[in-house]
Amino acid sequence: MCIIVLNMKNGKSNISLCSLASGSVGNSIYIENTTAKILIDAGLSGIEIERRMESKSLTFDDMKGIVISHEHNDHLMGAAILSRRFDIPLYMSRLTYQRVAHKIGEVKNLKIFEPGVSFYIGDFEVHPFQISHDAVDPVGFSVTYKDSKVGIATDLGIATGMVKTHLKDSNMLFIEANHDPEMLINGSYPWSLKQRIRSRHGHLSNFDTRELLVDLKHENLRNVVLGHLSEENNTPDKVLETCGDVFNIDKTSIHLALQSGAGDLIEV
Ligand SMILES: [Zn+2]
Ligand SMILES: [Zn+2]
Repeated sequence: MCIIVLNMKNGKSNISLCSLASGSVGNSIYIENTTAKILIDAGLSGIEIERRMESKSLTFDDMKGIVISHEHNDHLMGAAILSRRFDIPLYMSRLTYQRVAHKIGEVKNLKIFEPGVSFYIGDFEVHPFQISHDAVDPVGFSVTYKDSKVGIATDLGIATGMVKTHLKDSNMLFIEANHDPEMLINGSYPWSLKQRIRSRHGHLSNFDTRELLVDLKHENLRNVVLGHLSEENNTPDKVLETCGDVFNIDKTSIHLALQSGAGDLIEV
């Protein structure tokens, strides 16, 4: 069981989302509507992503795009391989592509997006927005279809006003809760790495995430997925202890996306 559901509501939805993997070893989020499927990031081997999709009875039929948030390997590893194998368009920013072109091999179906400019994949409207992280051109995304909106931001040192603006009014949020500050400080990482993680270009702590969620909370936020948990500096219990009481669980379900396996398909 890789996603913990505190409460799950019923109801018709336009978008469904499944975390295939989340954490510093690999990230990939599967999103579908009735007409198209996309992956946000593909940071495991191509084979492993296929295996995890199969484990949830998900297929690459009608997969219309793989969209990359930034060039770190835990978001990129299998992307070009899957793009070639299934002839799926691969989307990333120009600066990100320039940074990775030498190592991902030929991509026949490359689509360049510009942070701040929306684009369509099938009927999904995807809006990439800049986030603060130690990558060349990192972005979060809002993904909208009909009247449902998913907001995604998983590698960011600070939730800026712009991030909050773009995540506002989401019906589902996929946000990182990377570390417990005390575990990070007392843990075994070298000081320089601890500093990087804590910096404006690093990752959100559980407390940062809590603050962001308090800001973003609204009536129609039905599901919150917390991910990119550090396996060294965080635990699911710590995340739920810090962030679990932000919401009225009759209105908003909290899920944890973990590294070890795919979660359930959640209706937005
Ligand atoms: Zn990452
Ligand atoms: Zn990263």
